[in-house]
Amino acid sequence: MNIVQIPAFTDNYFWLMFEDNEKSAVVVDPGDSAPVIKSLKDNNLELTDILITHHHNDHIGGVSELKKVFPKVNIFGPSDPRIPADNIVKNEDIIKLDSLNEEFRVLDVRGHTNSHIAYYFDKKLFCGDTLFSCGCGRLFEGTYEDMHKALTKIKNLPKETLIYCAHEYTLDNIGFAKLLDPNNHDLIAREEEVKKILKEGGYSVPSVLENELKINPFLRFDHKDVISSVQNHFNLKLNKESEIFKYTRQWKDNEYD
Ligand SMILES: [Zn+2]
Repeated sequence: MNIVQIPAFTDNYFWLMFEDNEKSAVVVDPGDSAPVIKSLKDNNLELTDILITHHHNDHIGGVSELKKVFPKVNIFGPSDPRIPADNIVKNEDIIKLDSLNEEFRVLDVRGHTNSHIAYYFDKKLFCGDTLFSCGCGRLFEGTYEDMHKALTKIKNLPKETLIYCAHEYTLDNIGFAKLLDPNNHDLIAREEEVKKILKEGGYSVPSVLENELKINPFLRFDHKDVISSVQNHFNLKLNKESEIFKYTRQWKDNEYD
């Protein structure tokens, strides 16, 4: 199985997958058609399947053009009139694609949007804008409880899981995480690592869940350092993990970017 990372726009990533010696490929969240078509040509592939995580244009903007070029393409996505999917999938559905020797499990991860889903297989998670390295998506439509539930679901996946998120936001996210978690050595180490990767023209994702659990404040709502930092910042006594998550998210939304 090959996974090609396609950078697009200023900081998006689309993910193209194909088996060795096969001609057919799958793309996740093609927000633009041109870079996908280029990558398909470079690898001598035809597009047979599109997996969509949510309706934002930087995730679906290329779908109609790709369907013109590859009329038989299967488009998978959640039930949402804003998403042009012809194969509707829901939580815990298993998808078997002809083009890959893998089965994808669908996870409902609503929060960033109300119908956001993720695709999981073989310790790889395609999570759109739900989780980023050292951050998480903004809550445009869902509740804090929804997003806390989605992140808890991700937190409970095997720790070796690779997080194939859709944006290169890592360094900026680390800047915020350091406000809450200034004594976290893993966070400082990750900052140095990411600076080096980006300087060399590389990508900081996919990241590994095990490391995210050590550095990502939006997965650390149960960690004493994050809890005390959030409680002190807002001068509140918070009893629930979902409330720690809520105030962490509000802190970033209102005072960081
Ligand atoms: Zn989005």
